[in-house]
Amino acid sequence: MKKKFYITTPIYYTNQAAHVGTAYTTVAADVLARYHRKLGEDVLFLTGTDEHGEKIAQAAEKAGKTPQEFVDQISELFKKAWKKLNISYDDFIRTTDEKHKKGVEKFLLKLKESGKVYQDEYRGLYCAGCEKFITKKELIDDKCPDHQKEPELISETNYFFKLKDFLPQIKELIESDKIVIEPKERKKEVLSLLKQDLGNFSISRQNVEWGISLPFDKKQNIWVWVEALQNYITAIGYGNDSKEFKKYWPADLHLIAKDIVKFHAIFWPALLLATGLELPKRIFVHGFFTVEGQKMSKTLGNVIDPIYLVDKYGADAVRYFLLREISFGSDGDFSIKRLEERYNSDLANGLGNLVSRVLTLSEKAGVILSNSEESDKEFNSEIKLAQEKYKKAIEEIKFNEALESIWQLISFCDEYVEKNKPWEIKNDIEKFNGVISNLLIAIKEIADLLEPFIPETSEKILKQIKQNKKTKALFPRL
Ligand SMILES: [Zn+2]
Repeated sequence: MKKKFYITTPIYYTNQAAHVGTAYTTVAADVLARYHRKLGEDVLFLTGTDEHGEKIAQAAEKAGKTPQEFVDQISELFKKAWKKLNISYDDFIRTTDEKHKKGVEKFLLKLKESGKVYQDEYRGLYCAGCEKFITKKELIDDKCPDHQKEPELISETNYFFKLKDFLPQIKELIESDKIVIEPKERKKEVLSLLKQDLGNFSISRQNVEWGISLPFDKKQNIWVWVEALQNYITAIGYGNDSKEFKKYWPADLHLIAKDIVKFHAIFWPALLLATGLELPKRIFVHGFFTVEGQKMSKTLGNVIDPIYLVDKYGADAVRYFLLREISFGSDGDFSIKRLEERYNSDLANGLGNLVSRVLTLSEKAGVILSNSEESDKEFNSEIKLAQEKYKKAIEEIKFNEALESIWQLISFCDEYVEKNKPWEIKNDIEKFNGVISNLLIAIKEIADLLEPFIPETSEKILKQIKQNKKTKALFPRL
């Protein structure tokens, strides 16, 4: 039986369309999904949209729409952006899907049966923007730092989940890497969160209308976070004895951004433990972008639309830039100037130049790539080296290093061309053909390694090599 690989992005909140931050996570997941498909694994790549909660209802009202109309429209915008970026997801879950609602209801009933749910009075400061209670400690000048608003004091009877009962076990699971949390700093962060006095959390809300109601108390709605996390299991049919669920759960990898670590690394495992389900194997946390040195925000008007970027630069240029410029686990800056520089130096000059030079030479001489041909020793070891570095880097989710290994191979080819000056040895047919066929083999390998990152370009290169026809430049200079 094929090895399975179940990878997820977070489901994105539908109060706004896709931006460069959500595109970042999704492109990363796409690269990993494509890579694992190339290894012959049975891949399930899930993404989707998070569509309930007060914030959505407010945004819909502002737009003069019903919440359902509003989320229908926004989730379509996400799909459109992912199509533009060549995202090869296998499933797109929406939390307004019937199968999600059914699964969530089953899950909540299970949770209730576990004896870990109780009713209590909750009094606390609530930020409607965050849709969560926040502590005094988190406030700056009495305001929520994210929303610049004073939270309301709310008192209501809610259902609570006994998170505390699971904390020692979760600590142990994380310490022993039974749930792998990466990068290392994030694992440390989670372990230090666990040392603080984390309280039980409330799983329902009384006055939030746009949501899924609690199956055992219809007057309350499920807290949007508790419900959203379950998308990872409802998408594959949790609660209806589905074969898919048995096959794909637990997830092999949850990719997330650093602002939602607590939910994924602590709350989610606790909920799963309470209901007797297996835990995700690995959680990888990436950093945040600033845009041209500033925090990305609607108010500043610097939210970058990935559709705009793709229309201007092409999907591959955007995909390449996002994963090449910044080390995936760290924070970084998104800058149009840097994108253009990378495009010109790496794609147009580096890759594009090599491919067109070699194709022109091979075309003139009529050398084609044959399957049986093996490159010489020096070439072979260089290709092997690149493959090994690349594989290791991708498995460690170090995209920039994987790309570096490809560009090292490109540099090696450039040097080889300079050293052997094929245009000067055209009369020595054997020697000339040897040089060109080495280069063709390397280019084929380069195209292969590039496929998960820049699939369109990879396909074009492979076609050009096979047909041995010079076509338009892969990357016309900007
Ligand atoms: Zn807030």
